Amino acid sequence: MGLSIEMRMDLHMHSSASDGVYSPAEVVRKAHANGVEVMALTDHDTVSGLKEARKEAQKLGMRFIDGVELSVCWGAKTIHVVSLGPKKLEPYRELSEKLSHQRDVRARTIASKFDSMGIYNTYKQALELAGNKLNLSRRHFALALVQRGTVGTEDEAFEKYLKDDGPAYVKTEWMNLVEAMRFIRDTEGVAVIAHPGRYNFAAPLTTIDLLEEFKALGGDAIEVTTGSHFEAENERYMRVALNMGFLASTGSDYHGFKPGRPEPGLQEPLPEYLPTVLELLKDR
Ligand code: AMP
Ligand code: MN
Ligand code: MN
Ligand code: MN
Repeated sequence: MGLSIEMRMDLHMHSSASDGVYSPAEVVRKAHANGVEVMALTDHDTVSGLKEARKEAQKLGMRFIDGVELSVCWGAKTIHVVSLGPKKLEPYRELSEKLSHQRDVRARTIASKFDSMGIYNTYKQALELAGNKLNLSRRHFALALVQRGTVGTEDEAFEKYLKDDGPAYVKTEWMNLVEAMRFIRDTEGVAVIAHPGRYNFAAPLTTIDLLEEFKALGGDAIEVTTGSHFEAENERYMRVALNMGFLASTGSDYHGFKPGRPEPGLQEPLPEYLPTVLELLKDR
C-alpha cells in the first residue's frame, strides 16, 4: 500500500547559521543523499539559513519545511522547543537580533570564567569558529577547547566546564514556555518539544510535568526518535506520545559528524502506528 511505505524524514538539523558545521545547502545535500524526502532545518534561535536551504531543497526536488529551535526557560533549566512551518518569519528575525546580543554578552562572560581558570582568549577563538558570528553558542567554546587540546572531546568540554551549572556556565534568560507558545502561535508555527528525554529537572519536577504544561498551552507534538536520545528514550517517548496524545516528530539533531550520532535522516524511524506532526503541516 502506498501509505505504508516508510517515508524518510528529518525534522531537526543544524547548519552553520547556528552551531552546525555545514552550510544550509550542504546540510540539505547530505539529507538528500541519505534518502530524506521531507526535511526541516532547525537552527537555534535563527531563521537565517532557511532561504538558502529551501532553494537547495527545491533544486533537489525535496520537500522543505521551515524550522527554528527556540531556547526556552522552564523549571529553572533551558529546554528547546522547535517551531515547524511558521508562516510569519519576521518576528523570528527580531527575536534573533535580541538574542544575538544576549549570546554575545554571555560569550564574553563565559570567556572571563575561562580566564579565571587560566584558559585565555576563548572568546576570540569561539568567534573564529562560529559560522554565524551573531549566534555564538556554547558549542563553539567546546570546539575551541578541543582545538587547543584543553580537552579531548566536545563532550568532555561540556562535562568539565560548559554543562548547566558547570564552572564556565552562564545562565541566560530565554523566554519562558508561556511566551514561547504565544510566539509560536502568533507566527503560525507548530510547536514541538525537542528531545524530551534529554532534560534533567530538579526533583520534584519531571519531564512529564513539562509535557503536561506544554499540552495545556496548546502544544501538539514531541520528538519521539531523535539523535539526541538513547534507544531506550526513543522507546519511552513512543509510549508517552501515545498515552498523552501527542503527534510524533523525528530528527537527527545533526550538527556535523559526531561518533555515535546519526547522520542526516539516519536517526531511528518513527513506528508506523504513531500519527506524525506532518498532519499539521500539510499546507507548508
Ligand atoms: P547554547 O544554545 O549556546 O547554550 O548551546 C547549546 C548547544 O550545545 C546545544 O545545542 C548542543 O549543540 C550543545 N550541547 C549542549 N549540552 C551538551 C552536552 N552535554 N554535550 C555536548 N554538546 C552539548
Ligand atoms: Mn546545538
Ligand atoms: Mn536541542
Ligand atoms: Mn538541536
